[in-house]
Amino acid sequence: MQIQAAVLRSNNGPHTVEDVDLAEPAAGEMRVRITGAGMCHTDLLPRDPGFMAQPPIVLGHEGSGVVEAVGPGVDSVRVGDHVVLSYDSCRICRNCRSAHTAYCETFFPRNLDGVGLAASPIHDATGEPIASRWFGQSSFATHSLVTERNVVAVDPDLPLELLGPLGCGIQTGAGSVLVAMGVTAGSSIVVFGAGGVGLSAVMAARVAGATTIVAVDLHSSRLELARELGATHTLQADEADLLSALRETTGGGADYSFDTTGMPSVIGQAVHALRPSGVCGLVGVQQGDIVLDPMALSVGRTVMGILEGDAVPQVLIPRLIDLWRQGRFPFDRLVETFPLSRINEAEQASMAGKVVKPVLLPGS
Ligand SMILES: [Zn+2]
Ligand SMILES: [Zn+2]
Repeated sequence: MQIQAAVLRSNNGPHTVEDVDLAEPAAGEMRVRITGAGMCHTDLLPRDPGFMAQPPIVLGHEGSGVVEAVGPGVDSVRVGDHVVLSYDSCRICRNCRSAHTAYCETFFPRNLDGVGLAASPIHDATGEPIASRWFGQSSFATHSLVTERNVVAVDPDLPLELLGPLGCGIQTGAGSVLVAMGVTAGSSIVVFGAGGVGLSAVMAARVAGATTIVAVDLHSSRLELARELGATHTLQADEADLLSALRETTGGGADYSFDTTGMPSVIGQAVHALRPSGVCGLVGVQQGDIVLDPMALSVGRTVMGILEGDAVPQVLIPRLIDLWRQGRFPFDRLVETFPLSRINEAEQASMAGKVVKPVLLPGS
């Protein structure tokens, strides 16, 4: 079937919207007409020539849409259902069977190398295959081929075009707080980086009942948004003695800290901002070796790497939607929409920090 997809053809080039061919759904697969697709910093990784996924590739891993056709053997979702697309996992390895699908033994080939474990579903106008299994979906397109494993059915009365980011960035921030670190009522947490993931962590920390929620960022506009979404305190990342300020704000050190920047110097601050026995969660790609003071961990502190919030999408995403309905998790405040044709502008706005969460609308 002919569809339109935004193809990244070179590491430094723009995305170009092209007419391409999408294969029919095979066993266990379905075709989803994409109504919205969030843009996450992970979508920038294939611009690095050393990264495992490389152009030509269709990116996009926070899609939402309507099921248009199903292949043989799909029984949990029907044509016409509204779905959010999340990451892929095998569902049969030991970690998947222990409800840690984000730590699936085949997570990397299924999600991050762009070509997945099955044939490429997209071919360009000349018949060449395009990497199009990025996070099992490649949703910067009018349609996407996905499996039953990476869709989450949602109620049809919801604003479907805004829900895609629940599939990765928002799930990552909220899941890290609610699932991976298990932030408790009355506790303190410091969140480094007030982008989509960090602000989702702030909202989730408020939901969890944390009473001291500190957001740290370089942009004062983001800190203002963090306060509106639940941060009880904010600090500028370039403050002269940030660690002392953090220790003072948290009464000697935080119970939890959460790094979304991936910068080794910031991760060092995140560990040292903890009280003894505190937990530091790390997400994203760490940009270099992490060097810690030899005594930093000796006082019972934990440093935890986290993928996708350690969340099972079919469990956490419906919970986040219920919280949104109650006004307790207003993730839609992070979103700004762009037509698919303006994908390069959306990417620039995201990189410059002007938009927290761009969502592309392939239907407009
Ligand atoms: Zn698995
Ligand atoms: Zn992501």
